[in-house]
This record gives sequence, C-alpha cells and structure tokens, in this order.
Amino acid sequence: MRESGKVTGFILKELENYIKPGMSTWDVDKFVEDTILKYKMIPAFKGYGGFPAAACVSVNDEVVHGIPSKNRILREGDIVSVDTGCIYKGYYSDAARTYGVGEISVEAKHLIEATRDSFFAGLEFCKVGYRLSDISHAIQLLAEKEGFGVIRDYVGHGIGSNMHEDPQIPNYGKPGRGPRLAEGMVFAIEPMITQGHYGVDVLDDEWTVVTSDGLLSAHYENTVVITDGEPELITLFE
Ligand code: MG
Repeated sequence: MRESGKVTGFILKELENYIKPGMSTWDVDKFVEDTILKYKMIPAFKGYGGFPAAACVSVNDEVVHGIPSKNRILREGDIVSVDTGCIYKGYYSDAARTYGVGEISVEAKHLIEATRDSFFAGLEFCKVGYRLSDISHAIQLLAEKEGFGVIRDYVGHGIGSNMHEDPQIPNYGKPGRGPRLAEGMVFAIEPMITQGHYGVDVLDDEWTVVTSDGLLSAHYENTVVITDGEPELITLFE
C-alpha cells in the first residue's frame, strides 16, 4: 500500500503545477493515467463500477465522480477536484485534492483550505484508542466553524486489497461511536465540503455528483494508516 500510495501522492503533487487554464479535464486524466502506467501500477478507478477513466475530475459545483471529457475546458478561476488511486501487487491507494485553475477568488481559496484543514482536524483522532466517529465529528466541527456545509451522501472508507472496505467513515456525526481504532487499520479519509447546503444531485451521466444549490465544492483525501504512534499518510507527497 505504501508503494501504491507514493505514486498516487506524487501525481497529486505534480498536478499542482500541471493544471492550467485552457486544458480539458481529459488532459488531466491522461496525465494521471500515463503516470500510473509509467510506474507500472494499475489505475484503480478505471473500470471500477464501470467508471471510464483513471481519475475523477470534478469542476466547481461538481462534488465527486466527474467524468473526464475533451469538451470540458478548465477556465481561469475554476476549481477542480481530482480523485485517483492505483494498485500495486493487489493493494490500493486512494487520494484527492482540489486545485485552483489560474487565479481563483478569495472565497474559493477559503473553501479549499478549510477542506484540507478539516481532513487534518480529523487526522488528530486517527490514533489508537479513539473511536471512528471521533474522526467524523472533528471534520464536521472544523468545516462548519468556517461556515461551510459537509456533504452527507458520500463518505470515507476502509481500504486495502479492495478500494472500498468497511467501515464507512462519514465526515459528520456525534463523537464516541463506532469501533475503536487499532494499529494496522487503513482508512481513506475524505471530507467533501461545500459553500452552501450539503444536498447533492447526480447528473444524467449517472456519475457526476453536483451540489443542488450550484455552489462550489472541494475534496481532500489521503490514505491513512493507524500506527502505534502518529498516523501515517501514505498518499501525501511533499
Ligand atoms: Mg475514497
């Protein structure tokens, strides 16, 4: 999983400089897939549940599961969320970031930063002895304190020899519930945070999830290992 996570994290880091106004969401996916293949790994998303690409590329009010397209051009001021993962020797990694395209508004920057910060607020509880919903609660508290909504319909998850394993990890909820965390557990923690209400719709392509109110949404995810000390982020490349 660490080997797989390195490639996923590296790609998401590279995208910080790669994404530019005028490129299509297909171009972003092509970069992701080519890099995964270059490192001789398998794109985890391609074909998963019938998804046609190596990355979900979701623009502005799109929350998750955007299908890359040559017709979807990124414009200055957009925000774009890229969610991807790969498989190495049967083991998965899964991570996501939201990027600004060129110069973006102060409000959009705030949303992206608060989404990342909410992940790290949850990470404080990714330690032996805490309970699963302590993570959820910490994410919600931070996001709502910043004035944002927490998407309810899509959640984090266990990950290992499958992309989605038990348990589900909501980004909201009361603390002190669910299983106690133990060394060796691996989770994909992934807050999806919106400027407005958490209600979402799925478009006619049956994949793309958008906010019902049309406001911006951001996503931040890492694959996280519970250890006997600090949690290990195997998809964070810095
Ligand atoms: Mg995930």
